[in-house]
Amino acid sequence: MKTDLDKFKFRDEEKAKNILSKIEEAEKKIKLMHVCGTHQDTLVRHGLEPMLKEVGVEIVQGPGCPVCVTTQREIEEMIKLAEEGITVAVFGDMINVPGEERKLSDVRSEGGNVEIVYSVDDAVKMAEKRDEEVVFISVGFETTVPTTANIIKKEPPSNFSILSCNRVIPPALEAILEMGEVDLDGLIEPGHVSTIIGTKPYDFLSERYNIPQVVAGFEPLDLLMAVWMLLRQVEEGRSEVENEYGRVVKKQGNVKAQRMIEKVFEPTDVKWRGFPVISDSGLKLKEEYTGYDARKIYSDILSPLRDKEFGEPEGCLCGGVLRGVIESKECPLFGEKCTPEDPVGPCMVSREGACNIEYRYG
Ligand code: SF4
Repeated sequence: MKTDLDKFKFRDEEKAKNILSKIEEAEKKIKLMHVCGTHQDTLVRHGLEPMLKEVGVEIVQGPGCPVCVTTQREIEEMIKLAEEGITVAVFGDMINVPGEERKLSDVRSEGGNVEIVYSVDDAVKMAEKRDEEVVFISVGFETTVPTTANIIKKEPPSNFSILSCNRVIPPALEAILEMGEVDLDGLIEPGHVSTIIGTKPYDFLSERYNIPQVVAGFEPLDLLMAVWMLLRQVEEGRSEVENEYGRVVKKQGNVKAQRMIEKVFEPTDVKWRGFPVISDSGLKLKEEYTGYDARKIYSDILSPLRDKEFGEPEGCLCGGVLRGVIESKECPLFGEKCTPEDPVGPCMVSREGACNIEYRYG
């Protein structure tokens, strides 16, 4: 059983100093990217970011916050459904993400049925109890998709459906490397996602783009070790996928969860905020489950949005933040016009967003 003592084992100051001095001895300047809000939280909250910068390691956050990468079109879809009187069940952060003119929270304050849920199960229970249509806004990466898939497989009531905004991580990493905007020496892979997919889905990136990768846990020592492992790969001219988080992540991942996803969902091309359409980076319900697909069920309601172009909120540079091109503080709106209380872009809304984390701890 895990205890708090396990946690402190990974926050040992002496060990941290040892790893940092080894990184410093290497006297190498490297730039790394991670794709995980929890990694960003650890890096900023524990002050690792400036310490690593001092010894030549810069780490940028990529598209690792599921709320942040959700597009304006998807936000507008949610708002449209709620405006039409359909109950929209959504994770808390999402209701404050600004759409073109307003947020889900505005629709709620005008009497719209926007309900905050903590899991897809809550949304199903809501549908079971109520005589109304309930749409669950399914946002998240590979970590949360198996639970949604499991629910759909069990055939929930017919007044329940999902609006899939789910995405998968490896194609987005390929897009980052293919675009080549940021000169990266290595990737820190997300522990939660890797628990499900394992380490194999990252192999092609190292083979094709000669990029070192390390799957890392979320404690400060996990991240320092991951940086040290990547630095060693760089020094030794290796490009492979290594696993620092072996206590949780296995090479094959969680096969049962992977099968559950494959049974219910199939890959689809989808746009990410700040990115063009990325092939096979989204998940849509398979044909046999279209009875639960809100985009099919409510296609008439959503059709006015189909051919509309959506821009980013005025002045918002979330796209650049999500591609690792700029840091949050480089956005002129940061902390002035854009704060967690009055956010302009999603990176300031979500607690996994780089701007929100920087604002709280930076
Ligand atoms: S500070 Fe606000 S407006 Fe600027 S990038 Fe971050 S979320 Fe977007």
